[in-house]
Amino acid sequence: MAVVLDRIESASKSETGTTITLPTACPMEWHKLSGDSLLLKAIQETRYQGRATTDGRANMLMLAGHSYLGLNGDPRINGAAKRAIDAFGTGVAGMRLAEETQSLMRELEHSIANLKGAADAVAFSTGYLANITSIGCLLQQKDVIISDESNGTGLEDGCAASKAKHIRFKHNDAASLDRRLQECRTYSRKLVVAEAVFSMDGDILNLPAISRVCRRHGAVLLVDEAHAVGVLGRTGAGIEEHFGMPNDTIDIKTGTLSEVIPSSGGYVAGNNELCAYLRQEARGFKFAESPPPATLAAAIEGIQVLLESSQVVERLRKNSDRFKRLLREAGFELGQTRTPIVPILIGDSERAARLARYCQDRGVFIPVFVPPMIPAGTARLRATIVATHSTEDLEYAAKVLQSGARELGILPQPIRAYEAGEHETLRAGKPTRTGRRFHALCSSGRGERDLQCAG
Ligand code: PMP
Repeated sequence: MAVVLDRIESASKSETGTTITLPTACPMEWHKLSGDSLLLKAIQETRYQGRATTDGRANMLMLAGHSYLGLNGDPRINGAAKRAIDAFGTGVAGMRLAEETQSLMRELEHSIANLKGAADAVAFSTGYLANITSIGCLLQQKDVIISDESNGTGLEDGCAASKAKHIRFKHNDAASLDRRLQECRTYSRKLVVAEAVFSMDGDILNLPAISRVCRRHGAVLLVDEAHAVGVLGRTGAGIEEHFGMPNDTIDIKTGTLSEVIPSSGGYVAGNNELCAYLRQEARGFKFAESPPPATLAAAIEGIQVLLESSQVVERLRKNSDRFKRLLREAGFELGQTRTPIVPILIGDSERAARLARYCQDRGVFIPVFVPPMIPAGTARLRATIVATHSTEDLEYAAKVLQSGARELGILPQPIRAYEAGEHETLRAGKPTRTGRRFHALCSSGRGERDLQCAG
């Protein structure tokens, strides 16, 4: 029997002779560009200092991944995982509800609630599942979800999984949200959904303004803190700490245990009624197994280590600021980032891919993002900085990016110029030519001015 799906374009024969008709995969500029040639063939060993050993290339400097505090491999966390295996084995072996009282699971949920300053928390087997299943079950047909237009895939899929009407507000724009909520005033329940740190651009949700608008309209606010925990706030507790706002500013906080916390799983934190409801109604909680004991124990210990790591959080901030300063001085466009997520905006996908390859050939891995994961014409390299990168690592990566961008014509070649007889090399910027005169930024730091071409 043929399995008929939407957008039928290709067919393949299964072993039993049944024809399975498959939809066409979403067109990805990446594949048009270079197949998988930009992916590292195999990461054989990941080191904890922002480095990896890859196929044929030892000691690749990684500006990739989300272990922002470099906690993956922490001996305390590894030890907790090993002890859990000895005590409980490797599996979960049972239906989720029956396992609900499992001691490690409840301990983890208490740790999450404590970290997030919430009354309770519910742990899921992934952060993706936490978003999908909770948004999916919280609202009904007569409700409305209003989401930030720059939210990532997980939140988008969560909104799509709900029966409620779904509309979007302009990225990080409280006035646009205000208008949307005004238009939706007749809906019985309104849920506003946003990321705390936007994962493709590294900018931060304007929580003071967005939460004020939500309160005024009686809307519930859900914020995904996947890239905020360990990153924002003095102790890394997240976006409320970053803005010095009370712990109950956000009604529903979701997140992952697979980034700063070096384990796996996700969570929803909030008040007792919300968590009790999710335990009963969220299908992704009821029908998916809990993470296994070693994973739970690593997450519990990982949260404890995070709570003691404010100096590492500070180092992450310093590293991120240093790297962004180096790139901006070189003339790169980095958008609105204020976090360790550094989008190096190139625009054209082919050129972005070539720059990534140039960097890899010199031992620096920075992933490329191309449409449809991001809007058309905004292809970028997306570097992520970790606390364990050294100053030399960051300077080397910035130098490689700059020389690659000059060689590929992404940044202009440095221009030798003089003014009043004084030679200097212009900082890579966007010099505009008028005859033999240039208007440009100067390496001497004396700002923008007109110069005479020397060559
Ligand atoms: N939210 C955001 C913003 C993410 O980037 C991700 C991906 N790590 C997730 C949720 C999903 O988390 P997980 O990997 O635990 O499914």
